[in-house]
Amino acid sequence: MTLVKPTAFASLGLTAELAYAASASGFDIPTPIQVAAIPSVLQGADVLVSAETGSGKTAAFALPILQLLQRQPRCTSNEAQALVLVPTRELAAQTGEVFRRLAQHLPQPLKIAVAFGGVSINPQMMSLRAGVNLLIATPGRLLDLVEHNALKLTAVNLLVLDEADRLLEPGFADELNRVLSLLPVQRQTLLFSATFPPVVQALSQSLLRDPLRIEITGPQQGASPVPSAILQRVIQVDAAQRTVLLRHLIKTHAYQRVLVFVATQYAAEHVAEKLYKAGIFAAPFHGGLSQGARTQVLSEFKASRWDVVVTTDLASRGIDIAQLPVVINYDLPRSAVDYIHRIGRTGRAGEVGLAISLVSAATEPHFRLIEKRQHLSLPREQIAGYEPTQAEPVPLDLAPVTGAGGIKGKRPSKKDKLRAAKRQNATPI
Ligand code: AMP
Repeated sequence: MTLVKPTAFASLGLTAELAYAASASGFDIPTPIQVAAIPSVLQGADVLVSAETGSGKTAAFALPILQLLQRQPRCTSNEAQALVLVPTRELAAQTGEVFRRLAQHLPQPLKIAVAFGGVSINPQMMSLRAGVNLLIATPGRLLDLVEHNALKLTAVNLLVLDEADRLLEPGFADELNRVLSLLPVQRQTLLFSATFPPVVQALSQSLLRDPLRIEITGPQQGASPVPSAILQRVIQVDAAQRTVLLRHLIKTHAYQRVLVFVATQYAAEHVAEKLYKAGIFAAPFHGGLSQGARTQVLSEFKASRWDVVVTTDLASRGIDIAQLPVVINYDLPRSAVDYIHRIGRTGRAGEVGLAISLVSAATEPHFRLIEKRQHLSLPREQIAGYEPTQAEPVPLDLAPVTGAGGIKGKRPSKKDKLRAAKRQNATPI
């Protein structure tokens, strides 16, 4: 192998082989998060990173970890030295690919294993038998492996929590806490999170020792956290017209590689089918599909076999598809944070992206809430031929009440008012 002249990556303290691997991956200049994190991780510091999606965070931890692992003696059976915890199967597979690609030119080959649920556990147990340098896993499958005595966590001296906010979501936090309770106390810990709600702050305080804090693009006071490379459009349309408008937009603009977000698995199937019948190569992607089908849809989408993938929030985090130019919110996300994650699928690593949200009269109040939370104020558009016909519902407490004494069944009761207020704040779909 001929190594290129020292690159900007080598000046961060990385070996020539890893600097070469970075430039062979098309990384010429380190991103700000890489500049900030790589030297500190190499020095053994704990780090706490808040970075905008698509910022190059995977390489920011993968490159220095590969270098640190070169210095460690080999693991013995069923042990792992470094552990990367991620919230989804897709992110586990993708992170594994990044590590393997960057490890290709190392003088001392490293054993890297990936473990996630939804597929047979046996090959994963086999891959851990002789011990591994690095394991990338989702918490649930990791616990299964421990329970099967296929994995011991006693040798872990380096831990990465990627997408920590997602790892701590209700339903997942228990698994994460169980994994953490099995790890040795003496270790280096790196925590990455797009958002820092109180649960993540509490976790970082309990796990990290005197961490270096890196906040690359965190929202300034009053500023929007949306990457500037993403153009956001909001189109007003009646809910019942969304599929025809979607079809119109995709066809007129000849959009390719469009990720359409919907609220339910049923909607993913239904909208994808409608588009497919209209001659658009669209496939559904959601948690109800087998792991094999999920992997296949994703790799075919990456290979441009599908123009459109209609997905639930399963695809809103961490999935990295180069050149994903358009993201469409067919159904609005539940929260302002989910909005950022969804639209962050586009406009990655310096590319320009377009994020379109379809807003109906009923979902307008919810979208306004998202804008408020993200310090956004986006113009509303209407597309000729698809103009909405329905008006925004008047909150029940403001609706005129007929008759001085009120008519039974018409006048909102206290319960009605409470329900109306709840509806205003709740999921719009
Ligand atoms: P991540 O934030 O890790 O999901 O990375 C987002 C995208 O940025 C991926 O497609 C990476 O391959 C790419 N990337 C990471 N580091 C660099 C870099 N230094 N230069 C250009 N692209 C990069």
